[in-house]
Amino acid sequence: MAQTTYDVIVLGLGGMGSAAAHHLAERGARVLGLEKFGPAHNKGSSHGGSRITRQSYFEDPAYVPLLLRAYELYERLERDSGQDIATLCGGLMVGRPESLPVAGALRSARQWDLPHELLDARELRRRFPTFAPQDDEVALYEAKAGLLRPESTVSAQLRLAARGGAELRFEEPVTRWEAYGDGVRVHTATGVYTAGQLVVCPGAWAPELLAGLGVPITIERQVMYWFQPTGGTGPYTADRHPIYVWEDEAGVHFYGFPAIDGPEGGAKVAFFRKGTVCTPETIDRTVHDDEIRAMADQVAPRLPGLPGTFLRAATCMYSNTPDEHFVIARHPAHPESVTVACGFSGHGFKFVTVVGEILADLALTGGTAHPIDLFAPGRPL
Ligand SMILES: Cc1cc2nc3c(=O)[nH]c(=O)nc-3n(C[C@H](O)[C@H](O)[C@H](O)COP(=O)(O)OP(=O)(O)OC[C@H]3O[C@@H](n4cnc5c(N)ncnc54)[C@H](O)[C@@H]3O)c2cc1C
Repeated sequence: MAQTTYDVIVLGLGGMGSAAAHHLAERGARVLGLEKFGPAHNKGSSHGGSRITRQSYFEDPAYVPLLLRAYELYERLERDSGQDIATLCGGLMVGRPESLPVAGALRSARQWDLPHELLDARELRRRFPTFAPQDDEVALYEAKAGLLRPESTVSAQLRLAARGGAELRFEEPVTRWEAYGDGVRVHTATGVYTAGQLVVCPGAWAPELLAGLGVPITIERQVMYWFQPTGGTGPYTADRHPIYVWEDEAGVHFYGFPAIDGPEGGAKVAFFRKGTVCTPETIDRTVHDDEIRAMADQVAPRLPGLPGTFLRAATCMYSNTPDEHFVIARHPAHPESVTVACGFSGHGFKFVTVVGEILADLALTGGTAHPIDLFAPGRPL
């Protein structure tokens, strides 16, 4: 049995783990990354071609400082890796004035003095003819919002981690880990590894790998849909059709993207938080006709040109905490040697880069200057 000692082992090399490995290796730590599947795979939470990013954060203004730093680090990631990752095509938070996307985004924009515009229904239709709001609906437009490519992000971070000296092992699932004395021991099917520090980024496998954390995490099956607009993608390209999150009159949230995969790629749409509870083992990867119909019915009255023709769909998993805030902290039972990042509750991807920085801070120095109190596992839940 091979045994090598590392400074830090990163468990899980998805969105958060690849970011942690990148930042740790960049700071000179001896890093081992262990991943159950291949690089930038499609069986967890970080795939599907696009993720929304935005700064006027309707979930809570407390996220804004982290977003500002995440934007800087995404820019640096693009520069250092040469990968095309972000398209800041603008974003619309749509709904009635009191809806969560509109009222929440406005609160963050005002509190942090973020550039934004408020559009009434008529102005929204005029500026963005791919949107057909009802007369009592409005939108907050943010020019700095846009989309990130998750697979490119993960592969860029992995490449930079390896370039910084990290040893990355794929198709090597961790079977268990334990903290002892001043270090950790991690078991896989083929080896046992020891290190001073462990960073656990297990995505939807958190209930299995972080059972002792004390935070209930529910895994939710989500579906992404791609439709080819009637008349082609022309009006739906990124220079004309921004990303959006829309709360309809029944309180249903859905969101979408411009067509970014060429004339045949279609535009992606999805419901936000309308999934079914699952586990990574039991998730139904088949997308059913009634689901496609429900998505088509949702967009038909609101986005002229959609649904058009259904192209394809794919499943993905959210890892939800009860308050939908993340968990990023030293492990309460192993505060000297274990750091955790989980429960990203369907909105973590835009933070990947800054979470990598925070995890490197926590693993190497025990603390971070970033505001992470909201993410403490011991908060009232
Ligand atoms: C459909 C969908 C849409 C989303 N839209 C957005 C959006 O628009 N904007 C946004 O900001 N966020 C969005 N999110 C959320 C965001 O994508 C996630 O919060 C983020 O990807 C989570 O990253 P992660 O590293 O926690 O999980 P993952 O990327 O899944 O990484 C976890 C990794 O751990 C590995 N692993 C698990 N068990 C083991 C083991 N035993 N041994 C070794 N490795 C293991 C897994 O294989 C996986 O690679 C969306 C998510 C989904 C599913």
